[in-house]
Formats: sequence, structure tokens, C-alpha cells
Amino acid sequence: MISKVDKILVTRSSMPPMEEYFDEIKSIWESHWLTNMGIKHVELQNELKRKFDVDNVELFTNGHMALEMTIQAFGFEEGSEVITTPYTFISTTHAIVRNGLKPVFCDINPENYTIDVDKIEDLITDKTVAILPVHVYGNICDVERIQQIADKHGLKVIYDAAHSFGEKYNGKSVAQFGDVSCFSFHATKVFNTIEGGAACYSDRALGTRLYQLKNFGIADEETINGIGANAKMNEFCAAMGICNLRHFDEEIAKRKAVYSRYLENLEDIPGIKLNRIQRDVKYNYAYFPIVVDPSVYGKTRDELHDLLLNNGMGSRKYFYPISNACDCYSKEYDAEDTPIALSISHNVLTLPMYSDLELEIVDKICNIIRTKCF
Ligand SMILES: *Cc1c(COP(=O)(O)O)cnc(C)c1O
Repeated sequence: MISKVDKILVTRSSMPPMEEYFDEIKSIWESHWLTNMGIKHVELQNELKRKFDVDNVELFTNGHMALEMTIQAFGFEEGSEVITTPYTFISTTHAIVRNGLKPVFCDINPENYTIDVDKIEDLITDKTVAILPVHVYGNICDVERIQQIADKHGLKVIYDAAHSFGEKYNGKSVAQFGDVSCFSFHATKVFNTIEGGAACYSDRALGTRLYQLKNFGIADEETINGIGANAKMNEFCAAMGICNLRHFDEEIAKRKAVYSRYLENLEDIPGIKLNRIQRDVKYNYAYFPIVVDPSVYGKTRDELHDLLLNNGMGSRKYFYPISNACDCYSKEYDAEDTPIALSISHNVLTLPMYSDLELEIVDKICNIIRTKCF
């Protein structure tokens, strides 16, 4: 058999030892309870409450449904506006639009790629109901300013926290900010349940709505009082999460070593901007984005992407295109209205980053970037 070309991928899913997972799922064979908030579901939920240092966690099939159902749970009037960032995975924008609401795109700041808090207030109208920022690459948004603006104007704050699992800001868990923080446990994220997601929140009434919405809006056997969907995390995914959570700290330590190696190698290359870990943030080393300045570096982002690929190294244009430049939104929006997000999206490249990435491979990648050849 001809073997596939061994390209180094940008991510590689963390998995527990196989035996550990088998042990974890044995009881599922005994119970025959595969989904609908079984024992594993409840156990993972409780462990995540501890991990996130929050009172309430609701588990979902994936991060997207956590976001979509969270927005639905607030019951905003149709056509209301949500101020958000175009510099994100398209899920964020879709979650707003699929709820019949209108995303209003705010530009980002060029330092850490999160929403530019100085530009939010100009976008607020009498239709604005919420702000939906994203902790991009695990960089934490200016949570204080965002909360101040929200309080002043009576807006909800929903964080897309998909990139920020396990992080802390000033010693406080990232899951505690805003009205709700939504996480993704997708296979490619720092912590995975194969597919999965969670919403962390403080208002218990909201939790009841989330619990019912993810189960078709069923309140009890004879009462269906919400137009819900099916977004329950099943027992096998929850079991994977229970196992992966045990190894999370080791995984982060290994990622940190990869990160440090990249940093050592790439620190002084003209025209290559690195993502700096923010002060006061306990970081999770989720991604390694670089931003290419073609006029200084001498090659464009796309040329560097192809050069890496020709040498067997994957990299990802993440995020590109930005939401307001995507075919499904570009008729209604002009990406030029968010020039910083647009420019970063044309120049950004995320490099391979996962816990088992060998440091020699990191060196090879960095050599290609440094010499611009091979
Ligand atoms: C991964 C991701 C999502 C969606 O999560 P899924 O679990 O894949 O549905 C949403 N927003 C951002 C920023 C993401 O990276």
C-alpha cells in the first residue's frame, strides 16, 4: 500500500491511554444508558464546575450549539443587534444569525486580536441587546471595559471562550466573565470530548432554559415549552472528557515547551510578529499564530504557507476569511469597515501546535521560516 504523505498537521487531538478510556466506558455497558444526561454526563459536568470554578455548567454536543442555545435562551426580540467581532471562527457569527439576530461587526485591536473596546460604544443603537466577544487564540478580551460598557447600556455579555479552556485572568477563571462563557471541546481544541461544548453562567434560571432547550424544549413528560433542538452530550463523549481532564495539566506543560521552542527560534525574524502572552493571564498555549509583514519579511503569508506545505509542514490561515468577507455575509457587509481584522486575516498563519509535537519538527518549521527556502 502506498503510504500517505506524512504532512505535519496543525493540530493533533489529545487522547488518553486506550486502557483508561476502556475502563471509563465499561459502566456504560452495564447501565445501557448512552445519552440523555447519564452518569458520565453528570460526572463531567461536576468536574468542570470545579475546573472552571463556577456554580453552573451546561454540557452540549459541541461548542456551536452551546453558543446558539445560549443566545436563544435569552429570548432576544427578532432583528435585535449583537455587537461582535468578524475575526473569529464562522460559528460565532452563524450562532447570532441562526437566532434571527443581526451581527454588528466591531474591529479588533492589533495587539491581541480581540474586540477593540474603544470602538464598541459607537456601534450601540436602540436595537443592541448584547456584546459577543471572542478570546482569540486564548488572548483574553478586555473583560473589565466590556462589562462597564454592558452595564452602562443594559446589554448582555456572551463570551465565545472556545479558545480559552483552562485559562485564568488575574487569578480568576476565564469562565466567570460575562453573563455566559461558551467553550468548545472539539477534537482540535486544547481539551476535547471528541465533539462537545459547554456554557458556564451564573443565573440559575438561564440554566433551566439551557437544559430544556438542548433537549427539544421538554420541561417534563407532558410539557414542552420551548422550541429547542437536540444538543445533549452523549455518555461516550463525556467519558472521553473525564479521561482527558485527568491529563490536562501535563498536556499544557508539553504545549508550553513547544511554545517556548517556537519563541526562541522565531523571536528576532524581521517581519514576523509573534503572539505575546498577556500579563496577568495564565495561558493555555492553544495556538501559535504569526503575522507576516510582507514588506519587511519579503514573502507574503500565502507564499510562506505554500513554502511550508512544499516541505511537508501544514499551517492554517486562521482566521481567514473573516466573517464579513465570507460569501454568505459579504453582500450585506463590507469587510473594509473592519480594516484591522481584514489586514490581520490576510497576513496571519497559525503554525502546528499540539502537545506531542516534536521539538525537532518545530526547529525544522522555524528554519524554513527563517531561511525562506528549502
Ligand atoms: C471551535 C470554535 C467554535 C465552535 O465549536 P465546535 O465545538 O467546533 O462547534 C466556536 N467559536 C470558536 C472561536 C471556535 O474556535
